[in-house]
Amino acid sequence: MARLDIQDLVKRYGDFHAVRDVSLSIEDGEFLVLLGPSGCGKTTTLRMVAGFIEPTAGTVRLGGADITRLPPWKRNAGMVFQNYALFPHMTVAENVAFGLEMRKVPKADIARRVEETLALVRLAGYGGRLPRQMSGGQQQRVALARALAVRPDVLLLDEPLSNLDAKLRQEVRVEIRELQRQLGLTTVMVTHDQEEALTMADRLVVMSEGRVRQVGSQRDLYERPADRFVAGFVGRTTFLEGTVEAPGRFRSDGGLALACAGGAPGKAALSLRPERVEIAPAGDAAALARLDNRLPGTVEFVSYLGALVDIHVRLSPTDRLVVQLANREGGFTPDVGQPVQVGWNAPAAQVFNA
Ligand code: ATP
Repeated sequence: MARLDIQDLVKRYGDFHAVRDVSLSIEDGEFLVLLGPSGCGKTTTLRMVAGFIEPTAGTVRLGGADITRLPPWKRNAGMVFQNYALFPHMTVAENVAFGLEMRKVPKADIARRVEETLALVRLAGYGGRLPRQMSGGQQQRVALARALAVRPDVLLLDEPLSNLDAKLRQEVRVEIRELQRQLGLTTVMVTHDQEEALTMADRLVVMSEGRVRQVGSQRDLYERPADRFVAGFVGRTTFLEGTVEAPGRFRSDGGLALACAGGAPGKAALSLRPERVEIAPAGDAAALARLDNRLPGTVEFVSYLGALVDIHVRLSPTDRLVVQLANREGGFTPDVGQPVQVGWNAPAAQVFNA
């Protein structure tokens, strides 16, 4: 196990910057997730750590040693790929043994370690099968066993669950996380699946356009997003576009005058999480009286999600926001076309200057 330090990592393809100055430190035993939209550079970053892509600039240190220019098999890293990348003509045991053979581990030790590792991923007794004789979830565990067999200092997971169906994904997610904790493995995982990222990570890194936008805990990213991109990417939010006219005063492009907290005078957007907005029938004057902002609106769309209900409320020709309600018995759930009022306290909305 070891600490991983990535410093000023850059990858350019011609004029195109796939990764720009990425610096990250991953503590010994930590589970870090790189999260971001397609093409943001997360896989490229992971592959530079694994040694499959050569960085244009920057360094990768594992346990203090500079591994930037080492070939993959000389770095003590275990990698699991999205498509498992098992060798189809080799048995499960031969697949798991592969990394050990590359590292010239003695034959007797290889057999023992393959068995131990298959047991670890709950595949004891499957060593003689071919990958095509295994289910998707089992193949994924073989890929994990192959990565773990070399007793890596760092485990690198590239969208390891995306080929599995939703239910299996949830199970394997928990299995991987428990195994990682049990082994105390420093781990970096790439995913574009937010729920996966939020449930598995100790810490998350949000990337876009080759850059790190924010590093933090789930709560940091959701409640204190560093910028508008992170606010929009992590969880759901509605943006009201407008201007901070004076400290504490926001006017939307649709003419709504609102109290706000923070933000400098000038063009800005208010970000409102759907569960932070309250809603009440239009005529109930007392219902939202305690809130800084109260606005009349009309329900345009109701989306029933089971435990939650999303209500899209039109506030002006250009302003609309989403309110999310827990689906409680006897709770207020308006119908489409119904006049309502919505409200929130100023600090519940974040202000991002343009
Ligand atoms: P995804 O979730 O879709 O896998 P990602 O965030 O992992 O996306 P990367 O695979 O790291 O994205 O790619 C980052 C950017 O670099 C993309 O715009 C991609 O098109 C570009 N890129 C990747 N490999 C090459 C290459 N060999 N030549 C040129 N551009 C490349």
